[in-house]
Amino acid sequence: MRLLFVCQACGCHYLAPVGLDYPDGGRASAVWCSACQRDAAERGATEPAELAAVAVLLAVRVLKAALAARPTPPAAGAEQPPRPDRRPTRPAVSSRGRTHPAGARSRLA
Ligand SMILES: [Zn+2]
Repeated sequence: MRLLFVCQACGCHYLAPVGLDYPDGGRASAVWCSACQRDAAERGATEPAELAAVAVLLAVRVLKAALAARPTPPAAGAEQPPRPDRRPTRPAVSSRGRTHPAGARSRLA
């Protein structure tokens, strides 16, 4: 599960990679988005460790709250309530004694 951070430089929201590790071996920041992290590296600024720790704690708390607010999936084999957006099934129409629909002739004529 990836954590959502707010960049402390530009205010944008960004998804950090799992464990804050990029696949190419780079290290993501919990404080800055990738663009601001690059800018900070060019300025020679280092990531404030306390701010990074707080940002990770906040992101984990937000993720836990989002997971807790999500409806729990029903247990396997449990009766599922009908979906509100689902139309009721139509009863089977018996075709016995009525090979042609009543309105077919008038519609073709
Ligand atoms: Zn940024």
